[in-house]
Amino acid sequence: MGLVVQKYGGSSVADAEGIKRVARRIVDTKKAGHQVVVVVSAMGDTTDELIDLAEQVSPIPAGREFDMLLTAGERISMALLAMAIKNLGHEAQSFTGSQAGVITDSSHNRARIIDVTPGRIRTALDEGNIAIVAGFQGVSQDKKDITTLGRGGSDTTAVALAAALNAGVCEIYTDVDGIFTADPRVVKKARKMDWIAFEDMLELASSGSKVLLHRCVEYARRYNIPIHVRSSFSGLPGTWVSNEPPQGDRPMEQAIISGVSHDTSEAKITVVGVPDKPGEAATIFRAIADAEINIDMVVQNVSAAATALTDISFTLPKTEGHRAMEALTRAQALISFDSLRYDDQIAKISLVGAGMKTNPGVTATFFEALSNAGVNIELISTSEIRISVVTRVDDVKPAVQAVHSAFGLDSDSDEAVVYGGTGR
Ligand code: ASP
Ligand code: MG
Repeated sequence: MGLVVQKYGGSSVADAEGIKRVARRIVDTKKAGHQVVVVVSAMGDTTDELIDLAEQVSPIPAGREFDMLLTAGERISMALLAMAIKNLGHEAQSFTGSQAGVITDSSHNRARIIDVTPGRIRTALDEGNIAIVAGFQGVSQDKKDITTLGRGGSDTTAVALAAALNAGVCEIYTDVDGIFTADPRVVKKARKMDWIAFEDMLELASSGSKVLLHRCVEYARRYNIPIHVRSSFSGLPGTWVSNEPPQGDRPMEQAIISGVSHDTSEAKITVVGVPDKPGEAATIFRAIADAEINIDMVVQNVSAAATALTDISFTLPKTEGHRAMEALTRAQALISFDSLRYDDQIAKISLVGAGMKTNPGVTATFFEALSNAGVNIELISTSEIRISVVTRVDDVKPAVQAVHSAFGLDSDSDEAVVYGGTGR
């Protein structure tokens, strides 16, 4: 018995039936004696549809009005969900992010939560209500404008509320049964994990796994809020994400490998023919940084002795590709490189596991698996608990499958189920 925060994603509330199904599950939790706070996303692909609409009205929609528009999606689902719960004979009240006390900085479209003051939520709970909160939104501390937290931000709202309300757990309901050893849309034999450490989950999230966003896991780790990721469609126990495995469930030793993730949202830029002397890389990446573009992998090749020129490649989000090319073209006068190459037909495949630190041979097995699958590697980068490679985008499926099998991650039971979502 205690306070539970539950978050339902867009695919769980995609239509009226979905909203009613979710309402029944919430009421069951309440009947079990819990106080329940629910964070909800916009229905189905609503957010994408609103973005499409905005782009038809203005070519570069951004900032204040864009946030005002997008937050409407979550207001629709929160009100409908509260109505559906009332229809089941229970009291519910819905709240916008601002009403729920989600205070952010003022960077529109990607605001950061700086404080949560859930006074109204507490009052609603004390009066016996189920509180429904619109995810992904807040209000800026200085200007009191409505902000959004960036795509997929409802998970972060849920964890932030769980922390502010001292909830024992933050349950995140989605359209798969938990966190899998690979994307079940790509690997049918992906295995559901019962538990994963924050550390491994953070690496998976930053290397392309979309179940949980990096920021949400980061927040949960900082405030030590266990997350339970599970399906709103099946009712099966899902995956716990926390510092320690749940009591009584302690595995003898941590698995060497947690999972394989992939990311097709990045592009690669190669700066060809850079003079091999101090300061050139600094000038290139200063130009990128000044354009406020985040880069991921960086590789510099050995310079050819005859020419003393080298190539530098790096990856970045495709959405920033155009601006990055412009910034580098402007910087060409300072660096005098030969040319720029832009390639958005790439994929990044990553192997993640804390056990990798102490296990020799992981890298060799990884590369052998890719070689057996006939996959060519273009870039490589590693951290203590991750190896990532860049390949052709067409190779992503065979590559992920081959690596998944090579590390013995394939499940021998049922195929992983994907219950909903258009994957948009
Ligand atoms: N509706 C928002 C989005 O689609 C927020 C969320 O789903 O978490 O990005
Ligand atoms: Mg969504």
